Amino acid sequence: MSLPAPPLFVFEHSFAEQLEGLYVEWVPADVAEPSLVVFNDDLAHSLGLDAAGLRSPEGIAALVGASVPGGARPLAQAYAGHQFGGYSPRLGDGRAVLLGELIDPTGSRHDLHLKGSGRTPFARGGDGKAVLGPMLREYLFGEAMHALGIASTRALAVVATGENVARETMLPGAVLARVASSHLRVGTFQYVAATGDVELLARLVDYAVRRHVPDAADESPRDQALALFAEVIERQASLIADWMTVGFIHGVMNTDNVTISGETIDYGPCAFMDAYDPDTVFSSIDHAGRYAYGNQPAIGAWNLSRFAETLLTLVDDDADTAVEQLTELLQTYPPAFAGHWLDRMRSKLGIVADGAHNDDAGDQALAEEFLDILGEQAVDFTGAFRELSTALRRNSAPALTPSDDERTAAWYQRWRSRVAPDAADRMDAVNPLYIARNHLVEEALDAATAGDLQPFNTLVELLRSPFAHAGVDARYEQQAPANFGPYQTFCGT
Ligand code: AMP
Ligand code: MG
Repeated sequence: MSLPAPPLFVFEHSFAEQLEGLYVEWVPADVAEPSLVVFNDDLAHSLGLDAAGLRSPEGIAALVGASVPGGARPLAQAYAGHQFGGYSPRLGDGRAVLLGELIDPTGSRHDLHLKGSGRTPFARGGDGKAVLGPMLREYLFGEAMHALGIASTRALAVVATGENVARETMLPGAVLARVASSHLRVGTFQYVAATGDVELLARLVDYAVRRHVPDAADESPRDQALALFAEVIERQASLIADWMTVGFIHGVMNTDNVTISGETIDYGPCAFMDAYDPDTVFSSIDHAGRYAYGNQPAIGAWNLSRFAETLLTLVDDDADTAVEQLTELLQTYPPAFAGHWLDRMRSKLGIVADGAHNDDAGDQALAEEFLDILGEQAVDFTGAFRELSTALRRNSAPALTPSDDERTAAWYQRWRSRVAPDAADRMDAVNPLYIARNHLVEEALDAATAGDLQPFNTLVELLRSPFAHAGVDARYEQQAPANFGPYQTFCGT
């Protein structure tokens, strides 16, 4: 007699239990011929999941939504959001379900969510599906960000559905199993605030606080709201500073894509910038450049203002007083962002600030001048920092620009007098050699869509160890060749 197989997952359902009114229970669509495309053993391990069980037919059926695993309670979450500045009162999971929450071996809670699992009551005109290329893109970017030490949702698996999905052409369908420390978004709060239900809003704030700011769990609703706002400001300031200092452009920083946890979410039209230019935009629908690289910190503030508006009624009965208190907190965002940015730039430039060598204004100016030089000459952002450590080892000005100009030489002298001679190794430990370069991503996804996963798997492996030389072809660390042309990304996922 054999023992019954252990369950694939042990779910909890705090969201379903505590936030009735914010979701619709919804069963994912059936899938006739699922096949596992990629599975994240590293993530499965850190969640304490049984990787072998999840790779079995029963596990794959659960990861694609073809069967609801034991203990799951699938639901589609409601949320609203400002998209490109325009408010949509009802977005929600149009093609996704939350299966439940997993507690990892360290006791942390994670959502397990399926994306591309069929139409839900929030689907509006959409077909509820997702296609393989964009789901693999989300998998790849999540792993790349995680390896760079940047807070991010991650994918546990991508499962092909065996179905073709109509986009501009017919493309293979797929479902992404996504893990997030929660799926609470600024848009979740906007949805609730718009209902005018203050009791539900207080419950949502209490829930978010218990999940993400546990130190404030026992505070009054007002103090919980203020503590939550302060924490989200800090996390978004830190996250956006991380993005800026690796050249990451999210591409669609709508309020429904801004998490309360501070994790990067929804890798749709995102991309890494190559030649440094603050005006860089890759998304085909971002005509006005609202979400351009250089606008991201300011958009972060705009999104936080929308978040603040949702909390007003909890903060004070008198609207003016509430606005005043939240505005005061919002004013901590610019210095918080600037502080994180300077910290990151100092490490990238090998500069150690300590009691004896604290020169914020001087270091800020040094970092900004460096970026100005990169911008003037359209130098590859990622490569430039590796060239600096190389220059330090070689003890001669960096070869950033084709014709060695005086400006670079003068900057190099200033930097050399600020940096310790042995900084190169420290710099290489924080400045990636390998990023998800646009031409490599496209090449990997095109091959995967045509059935060859090898370039994708190779690229993911490289991006998981982005700082050390991997002994691969140099093109993995170089800008796109000129014939790659101008790059555009698409939201139509
Ligand atoms: P996103 O741009 O992926 O953040 O999605 C914005 C909104 O559109 C969310 O409410 C999604 O659930 C919804 N959505 C995107 N694509 C689809 C689709 N193919 N079917 C149904 N809803 C979708
Ligand atoms: Mg979204």
